[in-house]
Amino acid sequence: MPNLFRHRHFAGSILLALLPLAATAQIDTRAATVTAAEVPAAAYGTPVDYNIGYLVGEVKPGTGVWWVTEGSHQAMFVTTGEGVVVVDAPPIFGDKIAKAIASVTDEPVTHLIYSHPHADHIAGAWQFPEGIEIVATSESAEHITELQSGERFGPFGTFVGGKPVPAVTRTIADGESLTIGSQTFSFHELGKAHSHSDLAVLLPDHRIAMAVDIVWAGWIPFERLGHAEDISSYLAAHDALLALDWDVMVGGHVGRLATRDDVATNKEYVTDLITATMAALQSVSYQSAAERAGYANPFLTTETYFDDVARTASAEVEAKWVTRLGGADVWTYSNVRAVMMWLRLN
Ligand SMILES: [Zn+2]
Repeated sequence: MPNLFRHRHFAGSILLALLPLAATAQIDTRAATVTAAEVPAAAYGTPVDYNIGYLVGEVKPGTGVWWVTEGSHQAMFVTTGEGVVVVDAPPIFGDKIAKAIASVTDEPVTHLIYSHPHADHIAGAWQFPEGIEIVATSESAEHITELQSGERFGPFGTFVGGKPVPAVTRTIADGESLTIGSQTFSFHELGKAHSHSDLAVLLPDHRIAMAVDIVWAGWIPFERLGHAEDISSYLAAHDALLALDWDVMVGGHVGRLATRDDVATNKEYVTDLITATMAALQSVSYQSAAERAGYANPFLTTETYFDDVARTASAEVEAKWVTRLGGADVWTYSNVRAVMMWLRLN
């Protein structure tokens, strides 16, 4: 059965081979011309073999729960004895998830769960056979239908190289469980924290979780705080995740799995961001920015002030976090800007 879809999208994999993979940063020793602070060693997982292009591993031995990464994105799949249940299909993987599955089991893929309706995590769904069950929250289902209605300027998945995704065939609600073959999944809605609808998928028997784009284990959150829909809901999602019973989590990004400590650490970083940004909004003088920028161009005046606030707050946060988490010197400024706009508008 796996052979049926293993080579179906050969052209897609060639295209992917031409794209530089983030994982290569870990093993590519060519001198970089753009540099940043040294990344703490704990941010990295097992390096991905350049020649294969992905790493597939069992999250915990003997559980049948596997994760796949190319160093930057992550997907999960679970063997059940009655077929494989996949969670997410990042399009940047090309057909590598199907290949990874075929490398460890002959079971066919029967279910695909969408963690949230963002194209960079689901627009690679084309690599699975037609007719499989597509599982998501009803909010995700509606949002995906809307995104693919044809009335939108810019097709879904354009930026990330994906394709339209199959519509959701089965919606699940908060607290619901689903048993497929030998495996039980439980579903926990995190609300509009990062996206329109964020879902935590738990395998209670194995204490394994998957929740995407909340925590970048070992790293600060992606630029603009991962484009969180609402920052207070985003913060609350950390508590919701920690209230669930798990000890290893597939977080959707970076080259290693997440622990409960990673979730608590991320919350601490985000809390520091908010505290520092609030303090800078109180202390930085608008007048001083206006005197330097003048009033002829109000965009420039405002931007000068925003920049002063963001630089003040991010200098403090960066100094504290650059040795603890990867990328603190790269995207703390951007994360402060996201917090600043959230505080300004809410
Ligand atoms: Zn996302």
